[in-house]
Parts: sequence; structure tokens; C-alpha cells
Amino acid sequence: MAEVRYVFVTGGVTSSLGKGIISSSLAKLLQARGYSVTIQKLDPYINVDPGTLNPYEHGECFVTVDGAETDLDLGHYERFLNVPTSQANNVTTGRVYQTVIEKERKGDYLGKTVQIIPHITDEIKRRIKLVGSGNKYDIVITEIGGTVGDIESLPYIESVRQLKWEMGSQNCIVIHLTLVPYLPSSGELKTKPTQHSVKMLLENGIQPDVLVLRTERNLTADIKRKVALFCNVEEEAVVESVDVSTIYEVPLKMLEEKLDVTVLRKMALPISKEPPLKEWRDFLIRLKNPKHSIRVGLVGKYVELPDAYKSISESFIHSGAMNECHVDVMRIHSGDITNENVDELLKDLKGILVAPGFGSRGIEGKIITAKYARENNIPFLGICLGMQCAVVEFARNVLNLEGAHSTEINRKTRYPVIDLMEEQKSIIDKGGTMRLGGYKCIISNNSLTYRIYGKSEIVERHRHRYEFNNKYFDDFKKNGMVPVGINPDSKLVEIVEIPSHKWFIGVQFHPEYSSTVMSPHPLFVDFIRACIE
Ligand code: GLN
Repeated sequence: MAEVRYVFVTGGVTSSLGKGIISSSLAKLLQARGYSVTIQKLDPYINVDPGTLNPYEHGECFVTVDGAETDLDLGHYERFLNVPTSQANNVTTGRVYQTVIEKERKGDYLGKTVQIIPHITDEIKRRIKLVGSGNKYDIVITEIGGTVGDIESLPYIESVRQLKWEMGSQNCIVIHLTLVPYLPSSGELKTKPTQHSVKMLLENGIQPDVLVLRTERNLTADIKRKVALFCNVEEEAVVESVDVSTIYEVPLKMLEEKLDVTVLRKMALPISKEPPLKEWRDFLIRLKNPKHSIRVGLVGKYVELPDAYKSISESFIHSGAMNECHVDVMRIHSGDITNENVDELLKDLKGILVAPGFGSRGIEGKIITAKYARENNIPFLGICLGMQCAVVEFARNVLNLEGAHSTEINRKTRYPVIDLMEEQKSIIDKGGTMRLGGYKCIISNNSLTYRIYGKSEIVERHRHRYEFNNKYFDDFKKNGMVPVGINPDSKLVEIVEIPSHKWFIGVQFHPEYSSTVMSPHPLFVDFIRACIE
């Protein structure tokens, strides 16, 4: 392949139309046709990364193997493509400005006025081209966050305009995703918002090559023709994206709509015969025709916002399908759980997951939940803070260390069973300073976790500052909560389990970040299996 091709995905009319899913679906189809593809997300906010954003603001923060805290859309990219992403796959306005301002301070622009055009746009273009460098990919899909017309996205749109001009229309195409709303009062689908949003793109110098229209009802040929005519695109390049029951169906819908064929044709790239997508279809069949159904509890403090635990929810979908089981995830606010109502709240659950998190809000509810799961032999998976809560609970109620806690919550506890990592003690900055990304872990070979993974050396992703306090290692082990996974270099405890329990595992890392449709995470798969039993 001579040159890397770039596909830009912009959004119009409203946010949350699913640019990430359309990008992932297109990438999946191109991948199935033999192209190597990656997806990049450009986010117009000024935070350097979403690591400092409250999940209520922005949903989950997704962590890559190389330790970047990124937008949750990168999670979709990985789940669809089964290929890891990296820091370069997510760029924010904050990061772009940070680079430009650092260069200005160093004197790199000495004598010049530093401006949005060309300095910011040049930096945006550099970062777009960076993902495509190194001959790793045939096609780079770059999703522009936000909606066309937003003040914040203007420099990105301008950069795309320039790239299209520089690279030529075959090497660089633009897909614009818009909404065609249905008005019940007149019984009609309306194309005007799409026309306006394309007009806005044109004002910024970009003629979209492909339009993807989100809609709740199927579009007639007439509507497609009308949109094509008024928006100046080919009729075949107007693609319908009708609402479906699961995001994993979207690639098949886009295949039917020939989105991949249109894109390849526009870029004058060879089009192989239609990919069968057999494994993907098999996954969907299993997902839609479950033989079992179970209810599990997801105990956390951001339960009102489904996006806050996106990767966990998706991991349940992958592992449920693998077990041919419908997993009904009941979200329970940890702040609602007390010693008095815990039995009532949790009694119908076949398994419990205590979620990751930060800070003291809702923490006692998580600790009570861990106790309930331990005492009632209910399959339990504690992730990061969830594991730390299980450790605190065990210390208090089995080791009888009254008031044991994590120093994140109680700095003065007499029994700091979870404590700040040594290297964290001198760190003041909050952004990008946690223990982040992939780290090795060695699993003891007589453990449940070892049987689940089927190997002793694993690499999993992290995002934390606190750790199991190794001063208590032997006490825990002697009393039945066994640290079975250890980082070989730092000796940090990564996994604890209770061998006398049916299925009780706490992990300091985040298995949910690496579960994909084609390779569901083994811990989730086995957790669901245990819940079904
Ligand atoms: N707050 C805990 C820590 O920093 C757990 C973090 C998490 O759950 N991601 O160690």
C-alpha cells in the first residue's frame, strides 16, 4: 500500500448520535476486507486528558495498555477491532495547546505571533498524521468529537479541510453523521436538520463525501435521493443507520448499506468479496438466543449514568454471550446499602461486582456488599477499589482489625491495609500521575485465577494510587484471603482470592478494559459461569 488513507467522521445536528459506533463498525468492515485500520478520537475540550473528569461529566475514562487515560470511545474501537489503541489515538484540545505553548516557551516560534491558524491546526494535523506514520495502517479513521458548528471544533474542522486539500480527495474522505428525526404529529421523517448541518460543514469549506443518517424509522428511497440532491453527495453515499437493539449489530447494518464499499470506492482502493463475518454473526446469535438468564449486581457510586461503567457493561455482554446467558445487570448505588437493608437489596443476585472508584462517597456500602458476598458464598468480583473494599472488609471482620481502612479514606486508620504506593507519596499533580497502563502479574499456579487464565504470567491495565499493604500479607494468607497474583518487579499484590469461597476474586487491575467481542475477558467469562451454576 502506497499511502495511508484518512477517513474523517464528523457529527451534525446533535451529540450522542454514535460516531464512535459508526467509526468502529466501518473499521470492523474494512478490517474484515483485509485492511489494517486504526481509529483516532479528537476531543475538543481543554482538559489534557479525560483522567481528571468526573464520570458524571464524561462517562468512563478508558485506559490503554501504554497507560493513556482516554475517551470511552477508544473502548469501542478496541472491542470492535480486537486491536489495542494507544496514547496517540486520543488527542484533546488541551494536549494540542499544551504542546504549542511549550514550544512557544522554548522559543521554537521566536519572532512569530502564535495563532490558531497555522500553529494549532499544524499541531492537530501533525497528531493526525502521527497515528498513520510507521507503515502500520492502511487506513486511519479519525473521529472528531462534538458537533459541527461548535466553537470548540472549528480548528479541527479547519485541519480536516486543509488535509483534504493537501492529500487530495482520494486519500482523504469525510463522513458526516446526522439525524433524520421522525415527527409523530405529521407522521414524517425530516431531512432539514441534515441539510442545515451539511450547509454548516460547507461554510467551513468541507463537502462531505458520505452521509450517514441516524433514524428510528427506515428511510425511503425518496428521502435518500432528496438528501443526496440537496447535500450534493452521490445517492449511494447516503447511508441509513436505523436504531438497532445492540451496538454490535451496527457493522452488519453498515455492511448491508455498503458503507465499506462506498468508502473504498471513493478512495479507489481494491474491494475484496464481501466478508462473511462468521464469528461476529455467531456472537450475535449467542447474544440474542440465550439459554440462561441471571441477574448480577453492579455496586458503585455512578450508577445513574450507564456510560460511567461502559467497559464493565460491555464485558458482561461479551462474557454473557460466551456463556449463552442473558446477564441482567442491576445497578445498585453503594450509598444506599446499609447493614440493615443489604439482605433485602442483594438477595436475588446470582453474583456481585463491586466497581472501581475514588473517594469516600458510598464506600461503606461497598464494604458491606463485600461482606455479604463473602458470608453468603455469592460469586464476587471486586475491581480496583472493589478489591480494596474486599480487603478492608476481610481485615475488619475476619482479622478483627477494628477500623481497618484504606488511607485514601481514613489517613489516620490504625490498620492501613490499603495504603498509598511509595512512589505516589511525593506526587502532587492529579493529571496522569496514577499507576497507569499494563503491568505484569505472576499468578500462583494452585489458584482459581490460574485455572481461569490457564497461564501464570499476565499483563493487565491499571489505574490507581493505593495498593494492598504488604505488611499484612501473611495475616491475610493465614486467615483465608490469599494474595495469588503479584507484580514480579514491585511485589505489589494484584489479585486476592478466598479459596474456601465458591468464587471470590479481587483484582487491583481492570479486566474490563481488555474484554472484546472476539476475546471476552476470562475473568468475566468464568464469573458468569460461576453465577449460572
Ligand atoms: N481509588 C483507588 C486508588 O486510587 C482505586 C482506583 C480505582 O478503582 N480505579 O487506588
